[in-house]
Amino acid sequence: MKAVTFHEHGGPEKLIYEDVAVPQVGPDEMLVRVKACALNYLDIWIRQGIPNYTISLPHISGCDVSGVIDSVGSAYSGSLVAGQSVFVMPGISCGNCDQCLIGKGNCCVHFHILGAQRHGGYAEYVAVPAMNVLPLPPNLDFVQAAAFPLVSLTAWHMVKTLADVQPGETVLVMGAGSGVGSMAIQMANLLGARVLTTVGAEDKKEKATMLGADAVINHSVENMSERVAELTNGHGVDVVIEHIGQQVWGQCLKSLARGGRLVTCGATSGGTAQFDLRYLYSRQLTIMGAYMGTRDELVEATHFIEADKLRPVVDSTFPLEEARAAQERMLARKNFGKIVLVVEGRES
Ligand SMILES: [Zn+2]
Repeated sequence: MKAVTFHEHGGPEKLIYEDVAVPQVGPDEMLVRVKACALNYLDIWIRQGIPNYTISLPHISGCDVSGVIDSVGSAYSGSLVAGQSVFVMPGISCGNCDQCLIGKGNCCVHFHILGAQRHGGYAEYVAVPAMNVLPLPPNLDFVQAAAFPLVSLTAWHMVKTLADVQPGETVLVMGAGSGVGSMAIQMANLLGARVLTTVGAEDKKEKATMLGADAVINHSVENMSERVAELTNGHGVDVVIEHIGQQVWGQCLKSLARGGRLVTCGATSGGTAQFDLRYLYSRQLTIMGAYMGTRDELVEATHFIEADKLRPVVDSTFPLEEARAAQERMLARKNFGKIVLVVEGRES
């Protein structure tokens, strides 16, 4: 089969479109013929090489997969069958440890991510645990279905489970054009909150408003925390949904009202943040870390997608062999929503 691999860590030029063996399918797995695979920032980290992610090379990236079941493993006894259109839950848990047994699969001691610690969907075929395969929502095409799992799961875990956003609260969502941002805006809106968001370019403002943002701050020309103060009559926001890290950390904390909650799931601008502990406790702030979410949370978010209450935001599509150009678009922050690789594929 064709796949995009890298044989050593480094820049986008390390990505190679080449022939590799079709993956072997374990008894508890399924082989999925990939139709579409969305990019995530994790793909960039993994290609560059980061501590705590031990991967064997060559590696195939891609966390967010939609496609058609090609074959099912010998131990599978569920209702999905070959030929069925599906999408894949990107977080993989063991199903047996203490955390898994209380329904916290994303805290599993063996937790790992498709396309990170195992081969992902930048390929014509991918082998995945059968319990991670879910039927395609009937109102989505393959590109949309690849665009929503990881970011919906992450955003729902942040906005609903951790921040527990209430009607009437004000939520600041960082980066409207990011995958998580574009979902978090819709989710906070759905939960009845007033939503403020940020963009880095003027042409993204209208798109952010279309998603349901009540006010959009252009952080490249405006001081974010000052603007937040103006928009909230000096109170600040109840919740910040954050994934940019270092560059915006101070501004995010400053934007919080007394008793406010900040949830972070990423650090695309760098991972070192400094703040004054006295500010944290005197203003009674809460900082929470989010890492993906559980299968139940993804199923819950998918119900809202099926009901057209949430929609995947697709920026652009690229053929699989142009994965490098696709990653470069993301690195240049030109996208609004998800960039998706489309896999034409051949019959096996
Ligand atoms: Zn487990």
